[in-house]
Amino acid sequence: MRPFSYERASDVQRAVIGGRETRQGQTDAPVQFLAGGTTLIDLMKLDVLRPARVVDIKGLKAAHASIEATPQRLRLGALASMAATARHPGVLRDYPVIAESLQLAASAQLRNMATLGGNVLQRTRCPYYRDTSWAECNKRDPGSGCTALKSFNRNHAVLGVDDSCISQYPGDFAVALVALDAAVELTGPTGRRMIAFETLHRPPQGKPNVETTLMPGEVITAFEVPAGPWTRRSLYLKIRDRSSYEFALSSAAVALDLNGGAVRQARIGLGGMAYRPWRAKEAEALLVGRPLNEGNAMAAATAALAGARTHGGNDFKPELGRRTLVRALLQAAAMEA
Ligand SMILES: Cc1cc2nc3c(=O)[nH]c(=O)nc-3n(C[C@H](O)[C@H](O)[C@H](O)COP(=O)(O)OP(=O)(O)OC[C@H]3O[C@@H](n4cnc5c(N)ncnc54)[C@H](O)[C@@H]3O)c2cc1C
Repeated sequence: MRPFSYERASDVQRAVIGGRETRQGQTDAPVQFLAGGTTLIDLMKLDVLRPARVVDIKGLKAAHASIEATPQRLRLGALASMAATARHPGVLRDYPVIAESLQLAASAQLRNMATLGGNVLQRTRCPYYRDTSWAECNKRDPGSGCTALKSFNRNHAVLGVDDSCISQYPGDFAVALVALDAAVELTGPTGRRMIAFETLHRPPQGKPNVETTLMPGEVITAFEVPAGPWTRRSLYLKIRDRSSYEFALSSAAVALDLNGGAVRQARIGLGGMAYRPWRAKEAEALLVGRPLNEGNAMAAATAALAGARTHGGNDFKPELGRRTLVRALLQAAAMEA
């Protein structure tokens, strides 16, 4: 690990000042915030992230870790741990898709350490990004190329990719957030702003080293999820190579509002398939007004994966993604809500 300076921010203003030379979610950022450290420290040890300064934001827990469920919305402080959020009674009852996306992620120890803000900014598990002995990685070294395009790419993305990067967004919680129209509260040098969670992660567009739309110095302070008649009938289905302590090969976050057997509204997010947390609006639109049977679920899943681009090792993914979504939709339809 390279030498770096370490400082503690006891409140959000100090964190913002400490981090203002840099934009979080950029591989070559000279300043990185340290929350739970379960992504950051790994990537510093691997020499992928090389910050000159680390600003510890754990001190923000006192003011930015609360979880509030009201009839209008769910508000999650960005410093709340994954574990505390997954076991919160209001989240379990009214937003099961969020609780399950967190509970099925990582391990108990990691979920205790890791925060929600750090979770959404975790980095890809692409082996060519994480191992610096691979010279070609546009995300790590802009302009160098993408090794995954022509190498082992079984768990690489099929949606939202271009020739600059086919890495997959690995997180689970973000898939639930994108499905439920969540917003992110950001605190920065010019104050607070809210943005749609859907716009937090950038598409690669030839610059995969810049992963977010955060402005320099901005800290994620909270997430807000609007209440809706679909949130109680919601679930997260995760398909992986082993049933615990493993990232998704494919996943679906589904929330349904049913009118008898027919769909009034649907919310769908896909994981394991895409470059960034992926919302499947075409699939949602196809379901509205129709009964949720296997045929209609497959039509929606086909629309969700219509734009898939594969690269050999991941040719199986669109079919796995379709099947995952069909199963998730039918399971959600059968839930007591
Ligand atoms: C072995 C292993 C298995 C895992 N399995 C899964 C899995 O199955 N599913 C899954 O979803 N995740 C999984 N993870 C990832 C894990 O969930 C993340 O590492 C964790 O959530 C990151 O949170 P953190 O608080 O530790 O972030 P940190 O490591 O502290 O920070 C991560 C990044 O976010 C930035 N950051 C942190 N907080 C903020 C903030 N509030 N505002 C702005 N920037 C911020 C940091 O600067 C850093 O760049 C796994 C991790 C490991 C090591």
